[in-house]
Amino acid sequence: MRVVGLTGGIGSGKSTVVRQFAEHGVHWVDADDVARDVVEPGKPALAAISEHFGGHILLEDGSLNRAELRTLIFQDESERKWLERLLHPLIREAIIARLHPRDYELPYTLLVSPLLLETDQHQLVDKIVVVDVPVEVQIERTVSRDDNTADQVRRIIEAQMPREERLKKADYVIDNAAGTEQTKARVASLHARFMDEFQRTT
Ligand code: ADP
Repeated sequence: MRVVGLTGGIGSGKSTVVRQFAEHGVHWVDADDVARDVVEPGKPALAAISEHFGGHILLEDGSLNRAELRTLIFQDESERKWLERLLHPLIREAIIARLHPRDYELPYTLLVSPLLLETDQHQLVDKIVVVDVPVEVQIERTVSRDDNTADQVRRIIEAQMPREERLKKADYVIDNAAGTEQTKARVASLHARFMDEFQRTT
């Protein structure tokens, strides 16, 4: 089974593109979903986090106070590193477990992740697909999707890998600046290519 990694900055269109691959029957794993699951109440990672930071890191219902955790790790690099050391191996393990569904007949699956290139997740993939739009489009689409200001989105983009650097690491680029029909056509042709290439080599 081959794994194609799909990444891109915030608002570039990862979720949109992954839905288009899914229309061709492609199975996918979203690293963000996995990252949320590993810190659910009852999971060992959440117990480790509350032991490390103290009980105030939990909300009244026992779930993780994500806003508080984000504040703490943005303030302190060593805390961010501690958290990454705890979570990254657990996330990686859970991703691997989900990448191979039973009774799946296609030769490849997708791993969608905003941090594919920044973490060791890229070691799990055979090919890298980058969804790309200009920064201004990223800002415009994210602002109309989320409850964020353009300035907040700009700060998030600045904390992510720069566009040029990301593009250099791509095996394939999906230009999502135009309409969704154009992107759909590109997805269809990439899917055909992966089906052909991975069928021949597996
Ligand atoms: P990501 O998952 O990378 O953050 P999304 O797929 O959620 O990005 O796309 C960001 C926003 O832009 C969404 O509201 C989505 O519906 C919209 N969008 C995505 N692709 C296009 C496109 N080609 N044209 C217009 N809007 C788009």
